[in-house]
Amino acid sequence: MIVTKFGGTSLSTAAQIKKACAILLEDSRRQIMVVSAPGCRYDGDKKTTDLLILLAKAAYMRQACKAQLKDVLERFSDITDELNLPDWVFHAVKEDIEARVKRMDLSFERYLDLVKAAGEDSCAKVVAAYLQSLGADAAYLNPQTTGMVLEGKAGGAHFLPAQSHKLSELKHLKGIGVYPGFFGYTRGGDVVTFGRGGSDITAAILAAAVDAEIYENFTDVDSVYAANPKQVKNPRPVPEITYREMRELAYAGFSVLHEESVEPVLRAGIPLCIKNIYNPAAAGTTVLHKREGAVRVVGIAGTDGFCILTVGKYLMNHEVGFGRKLFGLLEEESISFDHVLSGIDTMSVIFRQEQLSDKGRERLFARVREELNADFTDLISSTAIIMLVGEGIIFLKDIVARLTSALLKENIYIDALNMCGGNPVSMAIGVKSVHLTAAVQALYGEFFG
Ligand code: ASP
Repeated sequence: MIVTKFGGTSLSTAAQIKKACAILLEDSRRQIMVVSAPGCRYDGDKKTTDLLILLAKAAYMRQACKAQLKDVLERFSDITDELNLPDWVFHAVKEDIEARVKRMDLSFERYLDLVKAAGEDSCAKVVAAYLQSLGADAAYLNPQTTGMVLEGKAGGAHFLPAQSHKLSELKHLKGIGVYPGFFGYTRGGDVVTFGRGGSDITAAILAAAVDAEIYENFTDVDSVYAANPKQVKNPRPVPEITYREMRELAYAGFSVLHEESVEPVLRAGIPLCIKNIYNPAAAGTTVLHKREGAVRVVGIAGTDGFCILTVGKYLMNHEVGFGRKLFGLLEEESISFDHVLSGIDTMSVIFRQEQLSDKGRERLFARVREELNADFTDLISSTAIIMLVGEGIIFLKDIVARLTSALLKENIYIDALNMCGGNPVSMAIGVKSVHLTAAVQALYGEFFG
C-alpha cells in the first residue's frame, strides 16, 4: 500500500485535481490519498485555508462575512462545476461550511480550527466524488471515525501515537480512501489542526500506521535541491537524502515538507518520495534511512531570526549545576533553545529571537545576573544559522578548513560554529543575518561549484 499526499497547488483547480487523480489511478498500490485544501491558482491568489481564516475571523467577531463566505464557496463551486459532479456534492460542502461558521459555542481558537479544517475536509469529499465519477472504488475517509486523535493546542496539535492501532485498521482498506489532511479530533470530539502545512504530517502518520511501502508526497518542485533556489541560482537536485539530513535542512528553512512530517515515517522506516505533480515522470527525491556512496555535503540551508545569549562566570566549570540553573531559567521564561556552545567560563545558547521581547530580555538579564551571579551577559541578535548537512561530514578532515576559507574569501565573520561527534550529520554556522545569502552562496560555491 502506498500513501500519496497531494499539496494545495496540486489540487488548486479542477484541472489540477484531474491530474492528481490520474496519477493516483496509475498505480493500484496508491490506496490512501491525503489531500490539502485547494491552494493558489496563480501568483498572488489566496489559498482556501487563508480564505477560511479570513471568514472565521470576521464571523467570530460578528462582522459582515458574506463576501468571505462567497469567496470560499466559489472555490469549491468552480471545482465541482468543472468536474461535472452532481449538485449534491457542492450542496453538502456548502451546508457543512455554513454549519461550521454558525458554531458560536466554541472558544475562538477551537472555532478557527473547525473552520480552517473545512478546506481539507471539503476537498477530500470532492476528490472522492470525482474518483467515483470515473468509476473508481473510492470513498472519503473521516478522520474522527478512523482514529486521527490529536492533543495539544489549537493550530498546533500533535498526534497521540498510542491511538495508532485504530488508524492501522486502514491496512485492510479495499479500494481507495481519500483522507483530508491537516486536522484530527481531540478525545473530547473537537476538531483541531496541525500547524500550517500540516497535511504532510497527516500523511506521514497514516503511512506509519498502515506500514506503507512508500509515502509519496506530490508537490510543485521536481526534487529537493542542494540549496534554496531563492538563495542560490539553479541549485543541484538531490536524488537521495537520509531522514536525518532532511530534518537538518528542513530545520534551517528547507520548506519542501513540514518539519514534523518526517518523524512518523522515520521511526517506522518507511521511505518517503517527494515528486512533482507537473513532472511525475521525474525521479524526485527519495528520503531513506541510509544513503550509499562517499561522505559528502548534500545540502546547505540557512535561515535568520536567531540570537546568541552568552553568560560568563569565572570558574564556571567548577560550579556543579550551573548549566541546570541556566536551562531552568530559560525554561521558566518559556524559551526553547536550538544550539549550545560552551567554554570553561562561558556558555552560549542560541535560540529563536521571536521568543524574547524587550521586556523579557531585561528580565532574563536581571535573573541571570542575580540568580546565577554571572559576571557578564551578552546577547547578539539578528543572527542567521546556516546548516551544512551530510551524513558523516564532521569527520572529513578538511571540512572546517574549506568552510572557513570560503567564508573568509567573502569577508564573513563566524559568530558561532557548532559541530559535535554526537551529531555527525551537520555543522551549524552562526553569521550576522545580513551575511546570510552571501554565506550560503559562498558555501555552495565551495562544496558544489
Ligand atoms: N491547507 C493547510 C495550509 O495551507 C494545510 C496544508 O496545506 O498542508 O497550511
